[in-house]
Amino acid sequence: MFVDSHAHLTSKEFDADRDAVIARAIDAGVEYIVNPGTNLEDSRRAVELAERHACVYACVGVHPHDARTADERALREIEELCAHPKVVAVGEIGLDFHYDFSPRDLQIRAFRAQMEIARRVNRPVVIHTRESMEETVRIVMESVGDKTWRAQMATPESRFPAPKGVFHCFPGDARQAWELINAGFYVSIPGIVTFKNAGVAAEVAERISPEHLLLETDSPYLAPVPNRGKRNEPAHLPLIARKIAELQHLSVEDIARTTRYGAYLLFGVGAPGAPQIVYSLRDCLYINLTIRCNADCVFCDRKGEAVIKGHNLRIEKEPTAQEVIEAIGDPTRFAEIVFCGYGEPTIRLEAIKEIASHVKRSGGKTRINTDGHGNIINKRNIVPELVGLIDAVSISLNATEPQQYGRLMRLDGERYFPAMIDFARECVRLLPKVVLTIVDLDEVDKEKARALVEEDIGAIFSTRPYF
Ligand SMILES: [Zn+2]
Repeated sequence: MFVDSHAHLTSKEFDADRDAVIARAIDAGVEYIVNPGTNLEDSRRAVELAERHACVYACVGVHPHDARTADERALREIEELCAHPKVVAVGEIGLDFHYDFSPRDLQIRAFRAQMEIARRVNRPVVIHTRESMEETVRIVMESVGDKTWRAQMATPESRFPAPKGVFHCFPGDARQAWELINAGFYVSIPGIVTFKNAGVAAEVAERISPEHLLLETDSPYLAPVPNRGKRNEPAHLPLIARKIAELQHLSVEDIARTTRYGAYLLFGVGAPGAPQIVYSLRDCLYINLTIRCNADCVFCDRKGEAVIKGHNLRIEKEPTAQEVIEAIGDPTRFAEIVFCGYGEPTIRLEAIKEIASHVKRSGGKTRINTDGHGNIINKRNIVPELVGLIDAVSISLNATEPQQYGRLMRLDGERYFPAMIDFARECVRLLPKVVLTIVDLDEVDKEKARALVEEDIGAIFSTRPYF
């Protein structure tokens, strides 16, 4: 279930028991291991290891520590190795001004040359940066300016650019991470996140959406607690995933699935799952009734890949109520059954009513996550029809006035904003629990939204993170 996106299995620390280490990783649920190269010799070894083990993939490159070895011949062979079917990236490359094992001018030259190689062969990069963030980001951004680099990997509607690489063992804070994510990069956090003094690693692991994170052990280094200080190995990856899940208030499975999909998008390892009509997150089960939506929100992540936390929601055809009821099984296994999928659920009001009625009869709890346009969509006041069937409604408020609302959701704000507010008031009047949410964007006035929701409408106010 896990992908270890960064482990140096070719390190001499594993010479005595490499195959046993890989076997233990598989037993621990690690499906794939990406082994970066640190110099030409090590890159060759990474490719050989990947040839011998189906679950191992290689990156080829010269680490900043070894930058003095990155001569023309070495770089030429690195570029040639990129054609190997099990080489998934150029790396690890970057700058390390902490140890300065190679002179800085040579580090910068080797890094630039290998960014060039990555662009030429159209592969992603695995970046190492230590006490050199500013210089590293500057060099990376020079390459990001080239719109042809991995351009075909982008989904046309995605709000994020094509995945270009990963900053492994990310040493920056959440704000720096977000800038890199917007440029097409993942960040990965190793076992440091389990340390008492985890610092910014914990901040990033808590605040950055798992869609932008990868898991890594960085074996044989940085073993997570309780193995801190000992040799690390990929079998310890679940310890790191557990800590990140705890910080994200998600399950380990949620983190594993989401980051595995990230590794698929970046490196092409593994495969996306089949489209799902129901999917679980935390302790809730979500119902994916439709791919239709009447809005086109600027902050919506679903338009591109239609994948939410590793769940593929791009269903070919809409399920019948009966199909969903069968897929739910016993609803009391879940805290809530939530109507929330790729599209706007109230487009399928009749199915909602039929499914919710089954769930209520079976002792389950129900919620709808909606844009609040159900009355316009169904051309009548639908709230009285939900009484006794729906326990909670969560409405995307998104903005505090019609123009901003229209701009963020790309629809007629003058018509839809007041209709959504009326729908919310009607829900407050008739249903047990109503929550209105805004996305945590700088341009939305949070206090104004809170006052509108709590004092005017009389509902619960909540924010959902943008990243
Ligand atoms: Zn490394």
